[in-house]
Formats: sequence, C-alpha cells, structure tokens
Amino acid sequence: MKKPIIPLLLVLFVIIAMGPPASASMSKHIVNYRIEARLLPDEKAVAGQQILTWLNDSGRPVNDLQFHLYLNAFKNNKTTFIKESGGVHRGFKLDKNNWGYIDIERFAVGGGPDLTAAIEYIQPDDGNEYDQTVMRVVLPEPVPPQEAITLEIDFYSKLPKVFARSGFSENFFMVAQWFPKIGVLWEGEWNCHQYHNNTEFFADYGVYEVAITVAEEYVVGATGKRIDEATNSDGTVTYTHYQEDVHDFAWTACPDFVEFREPFRMENPHVETEMILLIHRMHLNQKDRYLSALKNGIEFYSQSYGAYPYPTITLVDPAPKATGAAGMEYPTLFTGGTMWWLPEGFHLTEMVTIHEFGHGYWYGMVGSNEFEEAWLDEGINTYSEIKAMAKYYGEDRSMVDLGGLKIGDLVYQRVPVMASSRLDPILKNSWEFYSGGSYATNTYAKAGLMLLTLENYLGEDVMADIMRTYFERWKFKHPTSEDFVAVAEEVSGRDLGWFFDQFLKSPDKLDYAIGRIRSEEVKEPEGIFDGQVRDEAQEADAGEQESKEEDRQGADTQDTVRQGMGKKAGDKQDIDAPEEEKIYRNEVVVLRKGEMVFPQEILIRFEEGEEVTEKWDGRERWKRYVYFRPSKLASVHVDPEYKVLLDINFTNNSRLMEPNKLPVWKHALRLMFQFQNILSIFSF
Ligand SMILES: [Zn+2]
Repeated sequence: MKKPIIPLLLVLFVIIAMGPPASASMSKHIVNYRIEARLLPDEKAVAGQQILTWLNDSGRPVNDLQFHLYLNAFKNNKTTFIKESGGVHRGFKLDKNNWGYIDIERFAVGGGPDLTAAIEYIQPDDGNEYDQTVMRVVLPEPVPPQEAITLEIDFYSKLPKVFARSGFSENFFMVAQWFPKIGVLWEGEWNCHQYHNNTEFFADYGVYEVAITVAEEYVVGATGKRIDEATNSDGTVTYTHYQEDVHDFAWTACPDFVEFREPFRMENPHVETEMILLIHRMHLNQKDRYLSALKNGIEFYSQSYGAYPYPTITLVDPAPKATGAAGMEYPTLFTGGTMWWLPEGFHLTEMVTIHEFGHGYWYGMVGSNEFEEAWLDEGINTYSEIKAMAKYYGEDRSMVDLGGLKIGDLVYQRVPVMASSRLDPILKNSWEFYSGGSYATNTYAKAGLMLLTLENYLGEDVMADIMRTYFERWKFKHPTSEDFVAVAEEVSGRDLGWFFDQFLKSPDKLDYAIGRIRSEEVKEPEGIFDGQVRDEAQEADAGEQESKEEDRQGADTQDTVRQGMGKKAGDKQDIDAPEEEKIYRNEVVVLRKGEMVFPQEILIRFEEGEEVTEKWDGRERWKRYVYFRPSKLASVHVDPEYKVLLDINFTNNSRLMEPNKLPVWKHALRLMFQFQNILSIFSF
C-alpha cells in the first residue's frame, strides 16, 4: 500500500531546508527531492510527481529558477546533443522510432497556481532554439537569500531506446537523467548548461527520497538505501529509496536481474557498507568477477582517499542489448559492463567496475563541474583506476593477461595520448572540444598521465598526501582546477604553476629524444701549428671549468663537457696516454622535440660499465654532453625509468651503439599498437 506522503513531506521539507544542516550530514543540503515515480513499461515511460525544496544559498534574491531537462536531448534530430553527436554515442545509434523527452505537466510553487505556461526554454551555450534541455521559470516572487522555496512538479518522462547512458531495451530500464533537476546557483549566477554530446553533469547536494512503483515481476535497484517496500492492490510494488549527501538519483528495473547482496567491512579506515549486485541472468557467470572487483575498488579508494561513507553501493549489470547504458556512474549506483564470453584474462569487467566505483569519489563526493572541468572527475579517476588496476591485477598485465599477451592499463591509456593531435588542452568546456575523441583523450587519458607524471616527479608519498588532502578538504564542495593546484602546491611545498599551466592549458606535446651520439678516438695533434698546441681534452677541460662557473650563476649552457675516470684537469700524463690506452671523445645530444618543457634525467652508459646520470632542466631545444673516456658509449637514455609518462614517444628516448637489448617497453608498445583497435571498442 502506498503511503500518503506528499502533504506530510511538504511540511517536513520546509523544516529541513530552513533549519541548519544536521550535524551528521556531510554536505550542505541545497536540494531536497521527494519523487514518486511509476514505471509505465508499455509506454517505455515514467510518470513522476516531484516535490523539490531548494535553498537559495546565495546572498541575493533569486527571481528565476533553471532546470536541466536532460531527456529532451533525445527529442528530435535538431537538439544540440543530436547535432553534436550525429545521433551516435559511444558507437551506438539513437533509434528514431523511440525518441526520448520529458514533459512538464504541472509546475507550482508551494500549493500555488500552475506556472507551466511560464516555462521557457533557454540555450545558454549555443542558442540552438530546438534545444529544450534547459528550462527557466520566472517566479511570482523572488526567493530571498538563505531562504527556501518548495515546488511541486508533475512530469512525464518518455525514455529513448537505450542511448547515451539511459533508456530501455526490451524489459530492461535504465532510468537516468529522468526528472527535472535544478541547476546550480554558483557564485550568485545560474550554472545550468545544455546537454551536450561530450558533457556529463553538475548538480547540488542534498536529500533524495524516491518511491518507485513497478509491476511486481521487476527487480529494482536505485541510488541510496531501501527504506520501504510496499505491495499495492493493483499488482505493483513500491520501493522507497533514501539518501542524503548526493547530487543525483538514478534507478533501474528489469525482471531478468538476479540480485546478490553482500556486506563489505574493513578496518583502517572503517568502512561498513552493503554491496548490491543486480546482474542480468545472461551474465551470471560473471558474478564473482563483478563482486571481487567491487571489493577491490572499495578497499583501494577507501585506503587511498578516504572511507566510503554510504550505507550501500549498487552495481548494475545492463542487459546484453543495452551496452549503451554500461559503464556509467551515479551516486551510490553505477553500471558495469561485461559479456558472458569474456575471458578471465581480459580485465574489462574489472576495469569498468573499478573505474565507475571510483567516480563515486570524484564525480559523486567531490562533485566538480563536469561541463566545464571534466578532467577533475575523469582525469583524476583515470589516474586512480590505473593505480588500482596495477595493485590488484599486476602493473604489466592489468588490462590483458591472455595466452602470453600482457597489457597494462598504463600502456593502454598512453596509446590515445601518443596518437592525439594538438587540438585541445585538458582544461576546456567539455562541449567545445574538437571531437568526442579529443574530449576523451584529454580529459581521461592525458589528465591521468599528467597526474602520474606529477607523482613520479614529486614522489609517491607526496602525491598520496596531495590526493588525500584534496579529497578530504573539498568533498561535497564543487572544487575547481585552481583548488586542486593550490592543494598540490601547499602539500608539496613547491611552485607547480609551470607544470599545470603547461599541461592543463596547452594542447602541445611533450617529447624528449636522444639526437646524435658518437664516440671518436682523440687524435694526436697532426698538421702545422703556430705556437703551443693544447689537445682537445685539455680544451674540453677548460670548457668544463667555465661551465661550472656558469652553473653556479644559475645559467644553462647547451654544451657541457665532462672529464672522468681520473682524468683530472692538467693531468698531462693521463691525457698523453700510451697508444694502447686510447681516449675517446663521446658526444651525446639530447633533443626537446615537443613544445612542453619538463626536467629530464639522462643516463649514459660506457662500454666498460661506467654509468653517468645527468640532470637537465629541459628548457633549451637541445643539450650536448661531451665525455672524454678511455671507453666508448654503450647506450644513452633520456628519462631512463620512463617517469615522464606524458612523453608521447618513448621509442626515441634511447640510443644504443649496439642494438642488442631492446627495452621491455618497446615490446609492450608494439603489442599495444596491434591490440589498440580491439580495446578501443570498450572505451567506457
Ligand atoms: Zn569515467
């Protein structure tokens, strides 16, 4: 039986919104949604009644409200989403017999008259008059600062056939971005962008209580904890879910789900939650993989960034024909992705599970503006995913470990960055990227590699501190890139402006390479000279003194000449060596081929086993090192440990005099190129 909740809740919400936030709450509650939703399976639609209490947390009266009506992105072929995507999202086509839309049937302020006629559609990003993904309502009276308003909104959401994360496929329903969601009043202005092909979401925190009514054969999963389950006389069941401190609500229903619930507990940090897996019966053989990956995800993120705080985490396995809904995050609920035939050694299920769970932190709890700074979610999450995958599945085989073929997630993420063109920086409005590929490469892979490069530069412990501090300080507060940079500088105690200015804001590339290398025997002076002759090694020695002098003054010279192996300045006897002790002039030129500047280490190995490591600030276009040794060069390597992961070409990082031992990386990269096409179809 359904409870008569609306009048009671109206009162309750006003109290909640007007009062100070409860002491236990993690976020400031700007929104309080109470929604009654009924699934209409034949119409492939949801009928909803929503009571929203919204707090004007700004210092000015607010005259109008703005809402996202995301489903209208799929209303016709002239919407901004469809124009930008060409009707194709992640390789899936929009079914033109099944448009999606949301109709507002009633819009009233706290029991007042219906304001539906006052609704207008606005297009703040592109002025496309056919786009109805943002609605604006001018209020009869403004909402004073720090006061709340309660709205009653009835709506009808027609779901598209699964496309761009949400919709239906036969009897499977992924109900996401399905209700009128208020925009964010940010620094006194509405931040409410249209739904674009390359944008995800941005919303305020608060409380959601949603009662979902479905025919009794449906198995339902939703954001938050189930607080009530009531059987109705018409053969339907109403499931009520409740969650505080979230900024969205999604749900799913399908008679073919099999539900598994398992408690998760850990100490240090203390985590106590319930894992709920809704797996399609066609994928039952993948159950243990999902649950084991989810455990790994909860453990890794809790240990690395902070304890997972919610009472539930729901993993939804979409129906086989609903892959367009796979690999997507919502608060305390996400969709995975698998195939019944997926071999154990192909860690796709694991990668998607860990990636999407991880969004619960950066998208879910940190909640940055994904329209404007998507890397703060996708990039930080890719960085986290690479580390988690390496920990649980092996750094060199975390993606693929199949019949001798091994591919790590790090190598997998490097491929698109290596192949990318200089069209966009990481930091840019998501809908303004050149293409979906450029958006994905920059905000996911390149930003992830940027953070791993920073970790290698600052050290793992410092980076771990940065990430923990950032999460702890900024969770539930919508931080920006500047906030991230400020935490990184504060925790590391270093100026990192040069780093983030380059890698966040410039589309250029980083590529250091070994240029010319040669080893030539130093000849006795021959020919006709006027006066005394110094040989080349002596000249070099004098040069080194000058160079050291300049180093002390902080200057950088492009030529550095080194003595060594006991060849001290003016040690005439050694330089005038007997014929059997030859001296070689060994020359190494290191090149900066890209625009990006990053400090470099250069490792020089000589045939007799000596190793020299040089440090170069990497600023000039080239740098020459000359060594006088009784031994020739064996190999030269810039960034010998491959720490600078943004370097787009590792194959030019080393030169060997004898091509005898290729670095392992070269093999891995070659294999990677062969398999990148197979992997790219699974880019979640
Ligand atoms: Zn993601």
